[in-house]
Amino acid sequence: MRIGCHLSVSKGFDKMVDRALEVGADVVQYFPKNPKSYRPKKFDPDEYRKLAEAAVKADIRSVCHSPYVTNLSTPDPSLWEISIASIVNDLEIADAYGTDYLVVHCGKHVGEGRERGEQLMAEAINRVLEQFDGKTMFLMENTAGQGSELGQTIEELLSIYERIEDKERVGICFDTCHAFASGLLDFDDWDRFLEQFCDDAFFPLVKVIHLNDSMAPFGARRDRHALLGQGEIGEENLRRFLTEPRFRHLPVIIETPVEDELEYADEIRKARAWAGV
Ligand SMILES: [Zn+2]
Ligand SMILES: [Zn+2]
Repeated sequence: MRIGCHLSVSKGFDKMVDRALEVGADVVQYFPKNPKSYRPKKFDPDEYRKLAEAAVKADIRSVCHSPYVTNLSTPDPSLWEISIASIVNDLEIADAYGTDYLVVHCGKHVGEGRERGEQLMAEAINRVLEQFDGKTMFLMENTAGQGSELGQTIEELLSIYERIEDKERVGICFDTCHAFASGLLDFDDWDRFLEQFCDDAFFPLVKVIHLNDSMAPFGARRDRHALLGQGEIGEENLRRFLTEPRFRHLPVIIETPVEDELEYADEIRKARAWAGV
């Protein structure tokens, strides 16, 4: 089981790899550009490819996380177009770095209703993939269900996925904090959760785990990450999640609220110990 965390790439991909080694991560997540910006970033793919050699040498895999400001389900046509262009740019950056996956949050329907929002999101993903022919795979992340966020349940994620044309290039990133807050990840009904989650129609789509504890209680529909074992999910439940044999092949990214990146060393140590790896 690969376990790592979100790190800054602002000093260069090679420096990020050094930092990953320092905290004991063998998989790392980064933002392709300023997370508050959707302006496409100009970059030199050859230079990025060179910097990424450090990751190959150190056997470190990577995941790219799209900025939060895009909304693939927006009914505003200009924001929708901007979001598509920005995500195509994110995929190109990720691909140049040799990154396996780009994670994008499911959109918000902002009052237009779930059906319309899901339709817009699937259409946007189809448009994105028409404009990108690299290897990086597009992953939709489940949400806590704040406001009008889509993709809170397995059914909702599949409802978007069913409308995707190029299905082999799209998967799911599963965030434990979001799923706990949305009411999907129910540790009091663990067997039923596993039955739904590991269903053949869904489980093969899951490619990455975001391992976060939750400050908000179960079903509160609020996205507030907590340090591992210090939130409402707690150590016992996180251990149960990490030791599920069917999850062993999934890379785990920790995005907990540390004050300094070096503190991820403790988070990663905890997760490895709880997973027994
Ligand atoms: Zn996440
Ligand atoms: Zn979150």
